[in-house]
Amino acid sequence: MAQIIDGKKISQEIKDELREKVASLKEEGKEAALAVIQVGNDPASGVYVGNKKKACAYIGIRSLSYELPEETTEEELLALIEKLNGDASVNGILVQLPLPSHIDEDKVIRTISPKKDVDGFHPENVGKLVIGEPGFVSCTPAGIIQLLKRSGIEIAGKNCVVIGRSNIVGKPMALLMLRENATVTIAHSRTQDLKEVCKRADILIVAIGKPRFITADYVKEGAVVIDVGIHRNENNKLCGDVAYDEVMPHTSAITPVPGGVGPMTIAMLMNNCVESMLMY
Ligand code: NAP
Repeated sequence: MAQIIDGKKISQEIKDELREKVASLKEEGKEAALAVIQVGNDPASGVYVGNKKKACAYIGIRSLSYELPEETTEEELLALIEKLNGDASVNGILVQLPLPSHIDEDKVIRTISPKKDVDGFHPENVGKLVIGEPGFVSCTPAGIIQLLKRSGIEIAGKNCVVIGRSNIVGKPMALLMLRENATVTIAHSRTQDLKEVCKRADILIVAIGKPRFITADYVKEGAVVIDVGIHRNENNKLCGDVAYDEVMPHTSAITPVPGGVGPMTIAMLMNNCVESMLMY
């Protein structure tokens, strides 16, 4: 019987641990604050930003909200970030992506102080991950490590295949699995014989961005399968990159969608905010 990895429960555990930590820090007079910046009124971004603020309120992190109009210039946004970089009471700065097309996202990411880069996207933090120094790590991959560890899944020495090489999921995921001593393969759209590559995986992490792409014939019997994808199917129901119902019986453990990886991202963002206060 496959173990269904409960991301909702594990993310709640993490949020409760953080809530306790934040309460005891408050007794020492220390308060964490996260600045959340949204440019324009994309409805999906609005939902993500709302969820982040809700999580802050639950844990006891002060959230500062900046809802800027669509026509905000790059200069105005960069000036706000610089101001927040210099504000000692702000521990984390989050700019909700995507940004309107007239703003250079890379420039925005590089302008956030690496010490306040709670998303873990700044090249300095990415570099630290590569060389094994402490720093902020992209929240979704960091959350997957927590899911595996807190579900009692051994990583060291296992063959891990990560499908996807994006800067926010695939690449940091592969580096984190390497840090945990897995033998790591990264697959992407130019990989040959993807099925054969995937079938070698003891732990298969799928961040391909294609609904129900991974079917049972990609999965080794008894593998652990982590599904990062989030999509809406034709009935407006959420589904992942993995054909869950057909793959699940062949796994030893699997994350569902929804309720697997998804809830972990915000929990790890909150963790990074608290870490930011303790580290710097
Ligand atoms: P992305 O930037 O679109 O990257 C997709 C990756 O998959 C690329 O590296 C691409 O290869 C590879 N790929 C595409 N088609 C392939 C194929 N046929 N065979 C092998 N590899 C293929 O996506 P992302 O931002 O990493 O996100 C991936 C998924 O995770 C999306 O569904 C996204 O919505 C979801 N997501 C979820 C969370 C969460 O909190 N749960 C967070 C972030 C993302 P190339 O590099 O060669 O193009």
